[in-house]
Amino acid sequence: MGDVDVVAVDPSYAADGRALIATTVLGRRAFVAGGPAGDEPVVRRRLSELYGTSTAAWEFLTVRHVPDAVVTMPPPHHFRRSVRLLAGLYVCGDYRDTGTIEGALLSGRRAATAVLKDLGVRVEPDVAEVAA
Ligand SMILES: Cc1cc2nc3c(=O)[nH]c(=O)nc-3n(C[C@H](O)[C@H](O)[C@H](O)COP(=O)(O)OP(=O)(O)OC[C@H]3O[C@@H](n4cnc5c(N)ncnc54)[C@H](O)[C@@H]3O)c2cc1C
Repeated sequence: MGDVDVVAVDPSYAADGRALIATTVLGRRAFVAGGPAGDEPVVRRRLSELYGTSTAAWEFLTVRHVPDAVVTMPPPHHFRRSVRLLAGLYVCGDYRDTGTIEGALLSGRRAATAVLKDLGVRVEPDVAEVAA
C-alpha cells in the first residue's frame, strides 16, 4: 500500500533533517518470532526494492501489526457500486469504490451528484463525468 515520507507532512517527526519513511504492507503473515526486530530483514529488503536504493544504512525503528484494519479488495471487486440505494437514500465510502482515500472521496462526489440530480439541480458536465 502507500509509502510516505512522513516528514514531508510534518517536519517535527525528524527535526534533524532526516526523512522518516512509513510503509503499510498488506498480508496475513503471522507475527514473527523476536517481535518487531524479527521483521527487520524483510522490511529492509522490500523497501530497498520499492525505493530502488540500498536501505542498509537506514535506521530501523519498528513494525506495528494492525490485524484486520486495512481495507482489502479481493477479486472480483466491483469498483463502482451504486451510491443511490433508493430515491432519498444515498451511501458513500471506500466500500462503494476502491478501498482508498481517493475511492472514499470519489464515492462521496458520486453520492453528492446523485442527490443534486434527484433534486433537479443542474450538474456541471465535468462533475457529472467524474461521478459517472
Ligand atoms: C492502516 C491503514 C493504512 C491505510 N493507508 C492508506 C493509504 O496509504 N492510501 C489510501 O488511499 N488509503 C489508505 N487506507 C485506506 C483509507 O484510510 C480508507 O479507504 C478511507 O479512510 C475510507 O474512508 P471512508 O470515509 O470510506 O471510511 P472511514 O474513514 O472508515 O470513515 C467512516 C466513519 O464512519 C464512522 N462510523 C462508523 N459507523 C458509524 C455509525 N454507526 N454511526 C456514525 N458513525 C459511524 C467511523 O467512526 C468513521 O469515522 C489505509 C487504511 C488503514 C486502516
